[in-house]
Amino acid sequence: MEHQLKVFNSLTRKKEDFIPINPPFAGMYVCGPTVYGDPHLGHARPAITFDIVYRYLLYLGYKVRYVRNITDVGHLENDADQGEDKIAQKARLEKLEPMEVAQFYTNRYHKYMDMLNVLNPSIEPHASGHILEQIEMVQKILDKGMAYESEGSVYFDVEKYNKSNNYGILSGRNVEEMIANTRELDGQSDKHNSFDFAIWKKASPSHIMRWNSPWSEGFPGWHLECSVMSAKYLGETFDIHGGGMDLLFPHHESEIAQSVAANGKQPVKYWLHNNMITINGQKMGKSLGNFITLEEFINGSHESLEQAYSPMTIRFFILQAHYRGTVDFSNSALQASGKAYERLMKAFARLEGIAVGESSNFDVAELEKDCHAAMDDDFNTPMVIARLFDAVKFINSVAEKQISMSIEQKTALQKIRKNFIDEILGIKQESQNETAGAGLDEELMKLIIELRLKMRQEKNFAMSDFIRDELKNTGIELKDTKEGTDWSKTN
Ligand code: ZN
Repeated sequence: MEHQLKVFNSLTRKKEDFIPINPPFAGMYVCGPTVYGDPHLGHARPAITFDIVYRYLLYLGYKVRYVRNITDVGHLENDADQGEDKIAQKARLEKLEPMEVAQFYTNRYHKYMDMLNVLNPSIEPHASGHILEQIEMVQKILDKGMAYESEGSVYFDVEKYNKSNNYGILSGRNVEEMIANTRELDGQSDKHNSFDFAIWKKASPSHIMRWNSPWSEGFPGWHLECSVMSAKYLGETFDIHGGGMDLLFPHHESEIAQSVAANGKQPVKYWLHNNMITINGQKMGKSLGNFITLEEFINGSHESLEQAYSPMTIRFFILQAHYRGTVDFSNSALQASGKAYERLMKAFARLEGIAVGESSNFDVAELEKDCHAAMDDDFNTPMVIARLFDAVKFINSVAEKQISMSIEQKTALQKIRKNFIDEILGIKQESQNETAGAGLDEELMKLIIELRLKMRQEKNFAMSDFIRDELKNTGIELKDTKEGTDWSKTN
């Protein structure tokens, strides 16, 4: 492989050369959604981040087995050991079977991932389909003495594990400190220590999702499914594990502990985490009222949105930031992204119609090299996009006949479009009516602009000016350029 990809490994907290365990095979596991609610912005970022990782590994020629799970059991309300199962709770509220809830939201998740042009994983295992394997792993951890049974539940013994291992290896947390601070607070629970976590939980009488086990009728702990399913499909040690930073502790820390306890080795070579999304500078949350579903984004129905945003605008916006940086969603930032996306697509569409001639002083090979270097440097998509806009300027200057372009330059740019825009970034040309809200505006404006052009061709300038002025009164400004007439909303 001519490139050397570097990835930032959360486990070692530094950038490392990516060297798969069994090249050209690369195994990747990403924590998927808990399917109890409509897909929202928080789902879009990890999905798009690891879609880029997947796409780039494929582009580099790796055979990738990409596993992304569906959590349909065991994820309790407060993300820990207490409270109702998220799916069971929704099922009770909506008077549905839990699996009906899980299927409904799995379908919704797939629908929106398709719209965002996120590729399907190679395997999408459901936690509920791997209960037997999870029971086996609980038994294995018990046999190694790293868990204990209490009142029908089985808990991972963090203190004991930490004597011979490091519970904190990923998150950098200090367990001794945690232990010292929490020991006296216990007593209520059937756990030895409050930071011990359930790997098997006895179901309360009202709990509807339950399975037989040697310990009780119950269900597996949330962290366990990922340890079990990643090992089942990728082996006890595999290349990449991804997820949002919010999963780093306790979810991923506990995954490591479970796997090390059961199998005696580190399960993952490279841990990758995407940063979080904020909305107008605030953390996203249901209670904050800034919890926006993807459907609301795409049809513009949420009250905090000034307009609808197309799926490609959302994707492009997310890729304009590095995955380890935060992304703040605001109307102005999204509108700027929407315009930039259109400019990019328009220029590369114009490229097709350009008549070639003399070569101009623009180094396409250098540009391609820079794009590769940016991707090789821990998937630096904003850098790739910045370089693509240098190509946009060049193409537009040629299209406006200020300079010319050789056949070699044109062919090289077409290759850049195919490799970087289509394949690696996964940015596609959106048809105008792909999104009901955003599309209709476009269609109507196209029609009005055509009508006005017709008026001008017929020298009916009074009418064409009337159209322009009336639009201006409603807050829409027309701008005549060499490429045609553009429109934008003022205010
Ligand atoms: Zn997980």
